[in-house]
Amino acid sequence: MKSLIEKLNGPWHKRALQTFMVIVLAHWAEHLVQAYQVYVLHWPMHEARGVLGQAFPWLVHSEALHYSYAVIMLVGIWAFLPGFVGRARTWWLAALVIQFWHHIEHALLQGQVIAGHTLFGAAQPTSIIQLFVPRLELHLVYNTIVFVPMMIGMYYHLFPSAPEASHMHCTCSLRLHSLTT
Ligand SMILES: [Zn+2]
Repeated sequence: MKSLIEKLNGPWHKRALQTFMVIVLAHWAEHLVQAYQVYVLHWPMHEARGVLGQAFPWLVHSEALHYSYAVIMLVGIWAFLPGFVGRARTWWLAALVIQFWHHIEHALLQGQVIAGHTLFGAAQPTSIIQLFVPRLELHLVYNTIVFVPMMIGMYYHLFPSAPEASHMHCTCSLRLHSLTT
């Protein structure tokens, strides 16, 4: 009987990764839309809530939700890592390391809400790098520098070299079929 992690990185890798990437892409797009609302449309920060946040403002204003999403991202990237080999693994691992730090920042924010007082004497919950970069830009950057290595990792995962492909146990490769001809 295969473990869940084995299945996730074997027969289920392709479908589970596709689902995960759709969620990641949608979340990243929301951050892009929010930046557009502030910088191009000049909406007030509190009103700039992306697309889903227009209908459900609590999605944007709940620190617990941001924290939960950061954890889901971290667990997701970690859970799918064993299925990645070669260059794809290097890039996916880079995304995992960056997301680990991003998640620490969210844990700090969430901790301030739970503790009922803020760090650094700030009016709002504030994370470490947020001392240097405002929150909107910071999390746009965080999501981008996690997203880009994930995309590069996905590219190498979908188009592995022949030696890399020989170590893969999933059906993600778009190259395997052409190799057999
Ligand atoms: Zn795969």
